[in-house]
Amino acid sequence: MREFELVIIGGGPAGMAAAVAARKQGIGNIVIFERGDELGGILNQCIHNGFGLHTFKEELTGPEYAERYSDQVKELGIPVELGTMVLDLNADKELSIISRTRGAETVKAKAVILAMGCRERPRGALGIAGFRPQGIYTAGTAQKLVNCEGVVPGKEVVILGSGDIGLIMARRMTLEGAKVKAVVELMPYSSGLKRNIVQCLDDYGIPLMLSHTVVDIKGKEKLEGVTVAAVDEKNTPIPGTEEYFPCDTLLLSCGLIPENELSKTAGVELSPLTNGPSVDESLETNIEGVFACGNVLHVHDLVDFVSEEANRAGENAAEYIKGKPASPGVPVEVKPGFGVRYTVPSKLYIESVNDSVHIRFRVTGVFKGAAIAVTSGGEEIFRKRGRIFVPSEMQDIVIKKDKLADVSGTIEVKVEEAAK
Ligand SMILES: Cc1cc2nc3c(=O)[nH]c(=O)nc-3n(C[C@H](O)[C@H](O)[C@H](O)COP(=O)(O)OP(=O)(O)OC[C@H]3O[C@@H](n4cnc5c(N)ncnc54)[C@H](O)[C@@H]3O)c2cc1C
Repeated sequence: MREFELVIIGGGPAGMAAAVAARKQGIGNIVIFERGDELGGILNQCIHNGFGLHTFKEELTGPEYAERYSDQVKELGIPVELGTMVLDLNADKELSIISRTRGAETVKAKAVILAMGCRERPRGALGIAGFRPQGIYTAGTAQKLVNCEGVVPGKEVVILGSGDIGLIMARRMTLEGAKVKAVVELMPYSSGLKRNIVQCLDDYGIPLMLSHTVVDIKGKEKLEGVTVAAVDEKNTPIPGTEEYFPCDTLLLSCGLIPENELSKTAGVELSPLTNGPSVDESLETNIEGVFACGNVLHVHDLVDFVSEEANRAGENAAEYIKGKPASPGVPVEVKPGFGVRYTVPSKLYIESVNDSVHIRFRVTGVFKGAAIAVTSGGEEIFRKRGRIFVPSEMQDIVIKKDKLADVSGTIEVKVEEAAK
């Protein structure tokens, strides 16, 4: 059985950054298993620019951003096994893998980094009435068809969901000559970044219909059109508000789901709030030596934050491999309070925090002129004011270790609204 010090599952931006960080910490025996034919993950199909502003202070395309890391993987001589799918992982860190060149094999690792990314929520998970005609795609599938295969899936398009992929595809389909009739969003706010609403919808005159949804799909063999209706505050369609849009293509951009099938078989505890592993401050799961980072842990807005997080996962895995003792004591629970959907990490071993700890989360709604407050036992340990907090932007706060000195029990992260 081949044995590795560190196995990284997934060669997207998270997997590559984690591998680079671990190698720079002196770990020699690393491998990246990637099921695709090249490194880069989802970035390979994102040919628009806007990547890397934080990391490289430049606006790169997805493939350019990926190349910055794949070059480092190559320069550092980190072995990559492409076309290699990890089929199973157990709590002893044994992995079943399969590849075209080596066939089926079991390998063993001292530490594992989960970096499998996420997948899009498909139509079956949305419960829309109507037949299953040709012409309905997730936005990411359409993106791959257009950008990688050179195939434009349709001419008249409606997009359901205003996540970033949907917004990017509204512009992309327009540039390919299609007519995008509307982007329809159930919530009263967009789940995509403001810059994407401006650059991908407003600049092309594409209407964004907030508090609306698709209630019917017409067409049996091929899509003929969709019926859109307004929804009330309980997201129930309002009778009499229906509007019919003839179209041959419906793109779905209704959320991403972290890919945690392998985590589950290994016995990794998952958070019901993120659908990703529950981790501590070192991004370690409940299984010693198994770490997680990137979109498999929680869905990120910007790839720069994926790389930064993966860098920490790689460094922490390296320390584990070099024999750093397990975190001492009982962890402090990190809880989402008012206005906060989840936190990563969900627990902290305070003694193991180096200088500071990152807490990442998303808010549950749009909060203007509000503050983020972090408290423990009624005492405030952190506060940050903001002009506006929106669910589409991941929040990242950094708390210094000295602020955590007197903390015990739980830490609560909440939004405090401005007085009206
Ligand atoms: C359409 C779209 C547009 C975006 N636009 C922007 C933008 O403008 N700016 C920005 O900063 N960010 C953007 N992002 C976000 C950014 O691309 C992601 O945050 C980032 O790619 C996540 O990295 P990851 O490594 O966690 O996951 P991924 O990139 O998904 O990589 C995961 C990798 O794991 C592999 N894998 C999964 N399971 C297995 C297995 N069992 N065995 C072997 N390999 C496996 C997959 O093949 C994949 O290569 C966009 C994302 C999308 C989808």
